[in-house]
Formats: sequence, structure tokens, C-alpha cells
Amino acid sequence: MKIAEIRTHLLAHKLDTAFESASARFDHRRHCLVEVICEDGTTGWGEALGPSHLNAAVIAAYAPRFIGRNPLDTEILWAEAYNFLRDQGMRGLAVTALSGIDIALWDIKGKHFGTSVATLLGGRVRENLRAYATGSFRRDGVDRVTDIASEVAGYRAEGFDAVKVKIGFDVAEDLAVLTAVRDAIGPDMALMIDANHGYDTGEAIELGNRAAHLDIAWFEEPVIPENLAAYGQVRTRQPIPVAGGETWHGRWAMAQALDAQAVDILQPDICGVGGFTEMRRVADQATLAGVRLVPHVWGTGVQIAASLQWMAAQLPDPVRPEPRPPILEFDRTENPFRQAVLTQPIEHTNGSVAIPDAPGLGIEIDRNALAAYRDASAEISV
Ligand code: CA
Repeated sequence: MKIAEIRTHLLAHKLDTAFESASARFDHRRHCLVEVICEDGTTGWGEALGPSHLNAAVIAAYAPRFIGRNPLDTEILWAEAYNFLRDQGMRGLAVTALSGIDIALWDIKGKHFGTSVATLLGGRVRENLRAYATGSFRRDGVDRVTDIASEVAGYRAEGFDAVKVKIGFDVAEDLAVLTAVRDAIGPDMALMIDANHGYDTGEAIELGNRAAHLDIAWFEEPVIPENLAAYGQVRTRQPIPVAGGETWHGRWAMAQALDAQAVDILQPDICGVGGFTEMRRVADQATLAGVRLVPHVWGTGVQIAASLQWMAAQLPDPVRPEPRPPILEFDRTENPFRQAVLTQPIEHTNGSVAIPDAPGLGIEIDRNALAAYRDASAEISV
């Protein structure tokens, strides 16, 4: 079995209504899918987190190193590709692009052996995942407090029992939003907050202390991800558990964050951390550090499918008679690529998502959708 070709598929969709987190404004959704094609016709799919055009350029640079090689050699290929760009400093695009290729190789491996990636990873611990709704971004031209309170009430009505709300704009306004949200969802629904590193250290500490009475499960990306000492300050000077990790790529970045005791909850993204191959190592690092691992999930149906396979195999930590189940991040913002790229979209029922069990990632790609959403701007950009 040999790899014949690696293709990237760049997708774009202009949003009806722009929205923003504390770190980014979204008027389009753009994604980079990776297709690895073998000489025998087997095809695997992956996705790279981050700027789609730039990921595609790095994937093109990696591609010659994979052509003609055995796709089942996931550890060998990963190590060689990593070493190719090692001297550039293995953060960001060098690792996110490699993540997309690695996920496609695992999809191929599953199809080759006729079993799901979760089984290859060691076994399916579960067949369903409880999901939490991610939304509650700031939108133009509306009152943020009432807008988000009504949005989260909708998630509760849909059957979700957990929601994450975007903050990081302004401490006073964010507190008003969170107070209205807790009012709207009642005392039993889990509430997480995500500042998208919009605060400085003092603001994050103030927000955490003033919001703690609202029973908040975690405080995600309170401060900029490079400043691990500031993360430590936020952890020790306010009571809400601190989460982060979507921007820390690969085991070395994770080691720095864990050594600095930056977080209570580590959030690697399968499409950013280095794919399944590196995610396994990062999960071991989290165990060694005594930190809970809750993957970050933000992308198309391919990204969700890869995350589901990982989380299907994620071992309870610790093992006990009724272990804490992992919780799936489920983006609820406008993004046709969650559903359109898959022939059988992954959806939730009452806040629960079934994990596909067909070979590989367990999904089929709708090529008509890839054509319909092709990012025309990509053709003139590089
Ligand atoms: Ca986040």
C-alpha cells in the first residue's frame, strides 16, 4: 500500500450575520480539508485547524515526503515530517498542517483494517458523547445581554445540559451577560466561559472572582496563550478552574504549559495538536500532570468525526465504577460545513451525539459540497 497523492480542499462560506469572539471576527467560515489518496484507490480525510490557505501551503510542502510511502506507517511518517520542519520551531502551522495529514492516514488505516479509528486506538469505551453547546458570540446591532440570554435558553430547549459563553470583551458587560445567562438556563445546566485571551491578567482575576458565584465549570483562555506565568496567576488568584490548550501545538508546547501548572483542564484540538498520533502522547502528558483532558473542537464534519473517534477511545481518568464521561464541544454557530461535507451529517439528539462506527473516521465525504463551497479566493492567493 502506497500513498499516491495528497490534495487539499479549501472551503469558504460567507456568513449571513458576522460574529466575534474576543480574539477574532468571523464574517466567513473557511476550512482546509486534506485528502490522502493511495495507489489502490483508498482515500483518507483529515482537517487542519487554523488559516486554511496557509495550512494548504504547508501541507503542499510536506506532501512529497509522503508520496510513495506506506500510509500505515503513521509514527514513522509523522516523525520524519516533523523533523523536516523542526528547525523552524514546531508550533502553529507546521503542526496544524501535519495534524490534517495524520488524521487522513488514520482514516486510511481504519479503512484498510475494516475498523473504526477508535478501535485502532485501543477500543471504544463509549458509543455516545454528551455535548456542550458553543455559541454566544458577540453579534452586531443587538443588545448582547438579551441576545445571549435568549440564545442559551434555546440550547436548553434543544436538550443540551451544558453551554459555553464567550467573554473577554469588557469585565462589567461580561458579568452582566453571565448573570443573565445563569438566570436563563437555571441552576442545573453546566456553564463554561471562554475569554479567547481577551483579558489581561488583572481583568481575568477580577472576572473570575466576581463570576464564581454563578457556578462556572471552567474559565477558558483567560489570558494570552504565550504567557504561562499569567495563566498561573489566574489559576491561583481566582477560584474557577482554568482551561486552555487549543493554541498549544504538539507535546513540547503542552509540556511547557503543564510544567508551568498553567491549567486545570487541557484542551488540545485533534486538528491542531498533531493528529491522533500526537494526541495519544498529549493524553499521557495530561495524566502525568494530573490534568483533565477535554478536547477543543471547531471545524467541519471531518473535524467533529476525528474528535469523536478520539473521544470514543479516551480512557476514563481515573477509572472508577461510574467515571466522569468526556464532554464534546459542539459548535452551534452558522457553519454549513458541519453538515454539508458529510453524506450523513453528525447531529445531536437532546445534547447527545452518536459516535460513527464505520471504518476509519466513519464518514463519507460529499464531493458535490466540496465543489459548491470551493474557496475561489484560494486560487489567487499563493
Ligand atoms: Ca476556545
